[in-house]
Amino acid sequence: MLLEISDLCIDFVSDDRTTRAVDGVSLTLDRGEVLGLVGESGCGKSATAMSIPRLLPSPPSKVAGGKILFDGQDLVNMPIPQLRKIRGAKIGVIFQDPMTSLSPLHRIGNQLEEVVLLHRDVSKAAARDMSLEWLAKVGIPDPEVRAKAYPFELSGGMQQRVMIAMGMMLEPDLMIADEPTTALDVTIQAQILDLMRKLHRKNSGLLLITHDMGVVYRMATRIAVMYAGQIVEQAPAEEFFRHPRHPYSRSLLAALPSASTRGNRLQAIPGQVPAAGNFPSGCRFHDRCSVAMPKCADTPPQLCQICENRLVRCLLAKN
Ligand code: SF4
Repeated sequence: MLLEISDLCIDFVSDDRTTRAVDGVSLTLDRGEVLGLVGESGCGKSATAMSIPRLLPSPPSKVAGGKILFDGQDLVNMPIPQLRKIRGAKIGVIFQDPMTSLSPLHRIGNQLEEVVLLHRDVSKAAARDMSLEWLAKVGIPDPEVRAKAYPFELSGGMQQRVMIAMGMMLEPDLMIADEPTTALDVTIQAQILDLMRKLHRKNSGLLLITHDMGVVYRMATRIAVMYAGQIVEQAPAEEFFRHPRHPYSRSLLAALPSASTRGNRLQAIPGQVPAAGNFPSGCRFHDRCSVAMPKCADTPPQLCQICENRLVRCLLAKN
């Protein structure tokens, strides 16, 4: 197994309180898979994903329990110098907002070369060739000219293509894409998703974090849904979209525009995701759930296997 996260708990610690944002998350990702980690903003998706290469600032964050194994290696307790060799080379990350992830002070080409030189024993000329090759691969016209540009001289779509080149150029075994298309308009979003699908290699795994069910529909082979710091459903993508089992998953899908809902008002989920540290008792979704029962307010549902490859956290879930 390429990635195994088991019972992961992440706390945010301040002077006067400790808040659990990720509560007992278990996930696996194998080579060739695209795992879509979905849920509304504030569900704990990004905290889970960024804890894999340990990119969450610590403090205030702290892994309070659980394991993260990457190719059998324990990332939680790995010494930082060893972890640095893995970041970028074996685990690539595409962030949501290229403007805050690319350095505004350095030319695009130099930033890409830096990534190569940090992890590969090659000459500067070879690193430059590789950078130009990847700028062309991600569809940037005139790579030689663009390589000399600063990030602010490129459009949002072009900047995100640079981020993809930066994340993928060392052909990492695991790619983590955190809301990679959220900052883009829909036509550019479609192009970026096509590009990521084209570049995803059969022998690598892609963890795609998004609140957009349309994005996972196009990309994912398996889906994990998060709500209030917990996994509430996991299923192969095809089965999930055919028959979502958790009421929260059904609500997320009902909010997705489709040909059959054209002209109708989309169904919004009432209320808001509770803030970490303020999760309700019982089922954490009970105050927003359209099929909640009285016992949901005080009985926390467990994540149960309802059939092969399917997990659901709901008191109504049946085998
Ligand atoms: Fe809804 Fe109850 Fe299931 Fe929670 S346990 S999702 S409140 S039916």
